[in-house]
Amino acid sequence: MTDRIAIEKKVLSENDRLAGEIRVQLQARRIVALNLVSSPGSGKTSLLEKTIGALSGSVRMALIAGDVQTENDANRLKRAGGKLVRPIVTGGACHLDAKMITRALGELDIENIDLLFVENVGNLVCPASYDLGEDMKVVLISTTEGDDKPLKYPSMFRRSSAMVINKIDLMGFSDFDLMQVRRNALMINGNLNIFETSCRTGAGLDSWYDWLRRLIAAKRA
Ligand code: MG
Ligand code: ZN
Repeated sequence: MTDRIAIEKKVLSENDRLAGEIRVQLQARRIVALNLVSSPGSGKTSLLEKTIGALSGSVRMALIAGDVQTENDANRLKRAGGKLVRPIVTGGACHLDAKMITRALGELDIENIDLLFVENVGNLVCPASYDLGEDMKVVLISTTEGDDKPLKYPSMFRRSSAMVINKIDLMGFSDFDLMQVRRNALMINGNLNIFETSCRTGAGLDSWYDWLRRLIAAKRA
């Protein structure tokens, strides 16, 4: 048992070292880097598809899409108009790590980009522990999930800077309570920026885009 903990510690500290190198590399190019995390099916890929459509005229974007199996998400992002897209197929691993990001970045031309999105594997547990060199984590939750998710996975919500509550068009079809999820999330992390969106209807997406534009402007200043 103690051996396992020792190995885990070593893996995480090596990951932190690599993540630090990625951060320096992105920082030097003034790239805003966001690590998107959620349970499977909350709408990470849909949010990215919409974001590509809305911002690619004014923002130069690169996207790394992680999945346990298949390159389906990366293909969706390409079809949505993403020009710089790299898939990472983990082949079983339930999270992305910094080594995978280093490799993917090596295959992308990030010289002139403003914004890098990493779509993590759908999982609210271990992606919390793996720094990918991002500026911020953005956690998605959808109204088809339990509104107690922030209480069940506190470290993910504590380490995130923003929370996107997606599928608000489906509210009323479940017992999901919007005020309750906000209260739960803010109890864990009072600094969360909270967005309410529907990728299907487009509701609430403008404030998400505005926030991204402000992050990019702040990085350039
Ligand atoms: Mg996805
Ligand atoms: Zn994992």
